Amino acid sequence: MKKIRGQTLKIAQGDFTGRIKVRANDELGQLAGAINNLSIRVEESQESIDSERRRLDSVLSHMTDGVLATDRRGNIIIANNLALEMLGVSAEAELIGKSILDMLDIRNKYTFRDLMESEQDYNEVILDNLSDEIIVSATFSPIQRESGFVSGMVCVLHDITDQVQEEEERKQFVSNVSHELRTPLTSVRSYVEALGDGAINDPELGPKFLQVVEDETDRMIRMINDLLSLSRMDAGTTKLDLEYVNISELFNYILDRFDMIIQNDEVTGTDKQYSIDRHITNKSLWVEIDPDKFTQVIDNIMNNAVKYSPDGGIITARLTDTHNHVILSIADQGLGIPRKDLRHVFDRFFRVDKARSRKQGGTGLGLAISKEVVNLLGGQIWVNSTEGKGSTFYIALPYVQFEEDDWDDQVDEG
Ligand code: ADP
Repeated sequence: MKKIRGQTLKIAQGDFTGRIKVRANDELGQLAGAINNLSIRVEESQESIDSERRRLDSVLSHMTDGVLATDRRGNIIIANNLALEMLGVSAEAELIGKSILDMLDIRNKYTFRDLMESEQDYNEVILDNLSDEIIVSATFSPIQRESGFVSGMVCVLHDITDQVQEEEERKQFVSNVSHELRTPLTSVRSYVEALGDGAINDPELGPKFLQVVEDETDRMIRMINDLLSLSRMDAGTTKLDLEYVNISELFNYILDRFDMIIQNDEVTGTDKQYSIDRHITNKSLWVEIDPDKFTQVIDNIMNNAVKYSPDGGIITARLTDTHNHVILSIADQGLGIPRKDLRHVFDRFFRVDKARSRKQGGTGLGLAISKEVVNLLGGQIWVNSTEGKGSTFYIALPYVQFEEDDWDDQVDEG
């Protein structure tokens, strides 16, 4: 009897190791046998519960969403790692037993009943209060037994920060495009109206107004073309005509063109003077690029450097190489870019001074396109600038040094 009592106590404490030695075949012996059997069964079901639990834990911890489960009063009983991360706590224990309304900080907006009752199978709530960095969609669904008895609730937390940001950017973009097109269109319209009202017969005003209409129309066409090429890059349908180009030769060639422009006042349309100082390595650096698109990038940065340079300014063009990159830079002595605007200059339609950029025929898309092109080529573009002193734009492109042997092989094959 004593042994039987000892063994049942051990089983109650979760220790299934011992067995009662059965000596007799009487009633006590049979009871001892039954308890031994019971011990084996309980151990088996305990193991199967443990392994279920481990499976659940592993599913929860590998989920890409945060998961919280509560009891029927709304107190948290399970939280996976991602949920801890989203709620900014380090251990599950900090959440267990606490009300989900408090942990999600929504007590002043919802009751537990609000979250449980819904026309659909779940309720969705957008949470932007968990941290400054993330926006989360929380869906709540009741855990219901077959009898209909609700034993708790599951809450799935899904990070929707990127979606919200993209949607925000898309709206902003549509509003920018509309605004950017309305401005030149309104101005074209008022000039056309003035022409219709008689300005066309004025020998001085007539041609001047027509010129404005032409310039503005040209700018709109440029903007639409820029938008189309950006849209192709966004859609991933831009075709790159890649070839190996000696980048120092190409850079010199583009700069030669700008030197030519300086000598031709009619092209610049101003009497602003500037000169180009070159520090370009003599090495042949063969880089795989789309020469036309890359030329547009350099043209754009050079045009900006000219536009924002003071009279008599020096534009310094450099080309250097590291073991796996070529780095081009173009520095001007212009008005520079305010520190707060630096990270925005590659954004679509961003200009430090909108009126000034428009007057100079800018679309505000040049650098955005440059960035997309450089990224497509696997490179990076960035800028350093000091207000009042000047700006330097850098482009780094990946570059693989050819071994002499590679060339020999190719020549042999050719
Ligand atoms: P934009 O058509 O206006 O030139 P970009 O995309 O080429 O458009 O340039 C965006 C803005 O970045 C410009 O409006 C200007 O404010 C600023 N910016 C670009 N290059 C320079 C530079 N070299 N010096 C000063 N500001 C610059």
